[in-house]
Amino acid sequence: MHAIDIDSITVQYQNTTIINGLTLRVKCGEVYALLGANGAGKTTTLNSIMGLTSLVAGNINVAGVNVANNPITARKNIAFVPENVALYPHLSGAENFEYFMRLSGHNADQNTRAEAFNTVGLPANAAEQRVSAYSKGMRQKVALAIAISRKAPVLLMDEPTSGLDPKATAEFHALLSTLKQQDTAILMVTHDIIGAIACADKVGCLTQGGIQEFSQTADLQLADLIPYFQHGGMTQINAGATETP
Ligand code: ATP
Repeated sequence: MHAIDIDSITVQYQNTTIINGLTLRVKCGEVYALLGANGAGKTTTLNSIMGLTSLVAGNINVAGVNVANNPITARKNIAFVPENVALYPHLSGAENFEYFMRLSGHNADQNTRAEAFNTVGLPANAAEQRVSAYSKGMRQKVALAIAISRKAPVLLMDEPTSGLDPKATAEFHALLSTLKQQDTAILMVTHDIIGAIACADKVGCLTQGGIQEFSQTADLQLADLIPYFQHGGMTQINAGATETP
């Protein structure tokens, strides 16, 4: 069973088709990087998985739960890290962690927090520091700490490395390896092609015509993926790619 199973979905906004018959699957312990030009529908895909967008056609199952029929149960299987992490700036990292964990009905004791902060690489003094003094990378790490502590089988991330420096990005890639070992299914939207090649098991390039998928192999190159960032998607299909219309 695939932890994320998107089967032939179509999404429209005001009669404009944004996603047309998309099929995308992510297994437990797999990292899938979803690339595409601005407006290609990447965030819409994430919103659809979370049941925040109505489907015109198709089905999505998360950990075996149909999202349209059981959105609340499906969302319990999902941890989501948005692009712009919104924490309470006047609260400390520890207080934000406790607040958001309790809000989602989870345990937020000191040991859980200390372990999570350590796993994501937050410095020891960060817990008591107000978030207003945090860098973007530190806020991102608090969101990741909350996400991994929920121990959901599916982790969705929208541009997780945007604004991170190379060291923080490398730490993030190391964290993905840890989560893979814990069997988490990870789908991340990113514009970081090099990072995607470095850490993903599978790379999908969303285009107006569908999705081109590349499995991680030694010969996956930057040049294979760049054409998919042209607005309107790529018109020529790469011979090595498999297309899902
Ligand atoms: P980016 O890389 O810029 O974040 P994206 O691939 O994530 O882009 P989406 O945010 O999914 O793209 O948007 C896809 C298209 O759907 C865009 O044309 C956008 O304007 C449109 N769109 C997104 N949300 C809505 C909405 N709620 N109502 C109407 N149109 C929308």
